[in-house]
Amino acid sequence: MNKTNGIDMIELKAALLVDGVRADAQALRGVGTIFKEQNHGLFGWDLEDHADVALPDDFLLPDGTVVQFRMNSSSPLCIRVVDSALRLFHGERDVCEVRWIDRPGFYDQRIGDGKKMVQIGQVGGEDCLFFCYQNYCSHFAHGEQCLFCNLVSTSQTYDSVLKKKDAELIGEVAGAAWGEGIVKHILLTGGCFAHEREVAVVERILMSVRKHGAADRIPGTILPSPATGDDIERYYDTGIQAIGYSMEIWDEALYSAICPGKAANTSHAQFLVSIERAVEVFGSGNVFAVFVMGLEPKDTFLDGVKTLIGMGANVVPFVWSPNPGSRLAGHRAPSAAWYADVVREAATLVMNGDVPSGTENHCYRCDGNSLLHDALRERGVE
Ligand code: SF4
Repeated sequence: MNKTNGIDMIELKAALLVDGVRADAQALRGVGTIFKEQNHGLFGWDLEDHADVALPDDFLLPDGTVVQFRMNSSSPLCIRVVDSALRLFHGERDVCEVRWIDRPGFYDQRIGDGKKMVQIGQVGGEDCLFFCYQNYCSHFAHGEQCLFCNLVSTSQTYDSVLKKKDAELIGEVAGAAWGEGIVKHILLTGGCFAHEREVAVVERILMSVRKHGAADRIPGTILPSPATGDDIERYYDTGIQAIGYSMEIWDEALYSAICPGKAANTSHAQFLVSIERAVEVFGSGNVFAVFVMGLEPKDTFLDGVKTLIGMGANVVPFVWSPNPGSRLAGHRAPSAAWYADVVREAATLVMNGDVPSGTENHCYRCDGNSLLHDALRERGVE
């Protein structure tokens, strides 16, 4: 167990994600200028909206664990300044020091017709360059969006990024970010309209990224949507090293209930066919199955981890907490102790398998909303 000064860092991170956190005004000084702020590139992860206040995107615990900042003004967890350092308090108890993450220099650079680069790409955690090439999902039009998803309300509340990003502009932003020397991985996702073939969009984007200085094989992950298996070889040929599939929920009946539109388009069985083929094409460890953790029982979630590891895939489970604008707003997530316990069992299953870690494409520094990388890291996998 990873204990720094007697603190279970995984349970602390889980508490910060499910209970949210606050920061006082003094602690927020420099957020958006010196320190990296939230820019809502796709979803809003806070427990409440904050359209007029710049908040940190994420922060670091003493052992380097990256934690997503999820605002909750009634959380007992609060970040304050003590003797010029940021400290996390639970009520009046001083828990530990924390640090904001530096703001990338490219965020304010202007591009195209004067847009800021941050409106096109953002850095997740400390080293993952994130592009959502089109903030669009067809399921909202029919009220069939996933129950946990707040894509549309996030876009309406913050309107902070371009809805559709041009391949050439994405390449320029990638070149600037790589030139700064902070990013190591790329993460690409986005919805496409019915008339567009998503793989063609991704081909143009990665050609542009390479034109602006990336290597032939680009460390990172594409999350195609919809995730049918037809184009796997073409995705591989774009140069991206890994592919991911957002299965969301392992239990089939819960998947259909929680993700009605998505389940109608892509069944649980279709995901598995795609993942199996993707492992053949991209190689063991270079395929990720992405889950929303906390909306299904421990046993079905762990069944999913075991099966996927057996297939040669890795798993990225994001910690669910109810977001404003989603249909589950106002509900409660499982306890931090539940998350810590289940993710450690998942880590045991991963350690018992023989799948390469995939950390050259997605690592514990990439984002602060998953715990599995941290649970593996406490066992020496980085
Ligand atoms: S598929 Fe589900 S999670 Fe993804 S954008 Fe659409 S509603 Fe949201």
